[in-house]
Amino acid sequence: MYHGRRAFLRAGSAALFGGFVYPSFALADVAKDVRSLALNNIHTGERMTIAYWEKGAYIPDALTAINHLLRDYRNNEVHVIETGLLDLLTLLHARLESSAPFEVISGYRSPATNAMLHAESHGVAAKSLHMHGMAIDIRLADRPLDVLHTTARDMRLGGVGYYPSADFVHVDVGRVRYW
Ligand SMILES: [Zn+2]
Repeated sequence: MYHGRRAFLRAGSAALFGGFVYPSFALADVAKDVRSLALNNIHTGERMTIAYWEKGAYIPDALTAINHLLRDYRNNEVHVIETGLLDLLTLLHARLESSAPFEVISGYRSPATNAMLHAESHGVAAKSLHMHGMAIDIRLADRPLDVLHTTARDMRLGGVGYYPSADFVHVDVGRVRYW
C-alpha cells in the first residue's frame, strides 16, 4: 500500500471496482497557489526541485532553468519547453501521489539529434514533438511503469507512448493518441 489510511480507503473501492484507481482531480485542485516539479536528468545527473508557477503566473527564471535541464544533452541546444507539458507533469505527479522526482530520459531533441535517432530506431518519429519542446520521456522510481502509463493515458491531455523495454513512458501535449 502506498500511503496508509488513504491507500486503505482506496483499497476498499478497488475491491468494489476491481482495480486500483488514482484520484481524478484537476490541476486547480492540486496546485492552487504554486506548481512545482522535481526533475532528474539521467544523462547529465542534473537535478532540481523548482516552483515554476505561482499565484496565476509562470516564473520566467524557473522556466529558463527547466529549459536548460531539459536541453538536448548531446549538443547542449536549448529550446523552450511548453508550459502545458510542465502542467501535465505536475498533474500526473499529483495523481500518482508520487514523492520521487521525474527521471528524464529525453526532453528537447534538436532536429540533428532526432534525425540521428530516427535513423537508428523505428521507435523515434521523424517529426517528433520532442523537437518542439512538447514531449518528454519519463519514469518514476516509486511507481510501476505500467501505472505511470495508464494514469497518463487516463488524463487524456495528449499523446502517451509506452516503452517498457526501455523503461520509460512518453507523454506529450500534442493530440490525444496512444501507442
Ligand atoms: Zn518521447
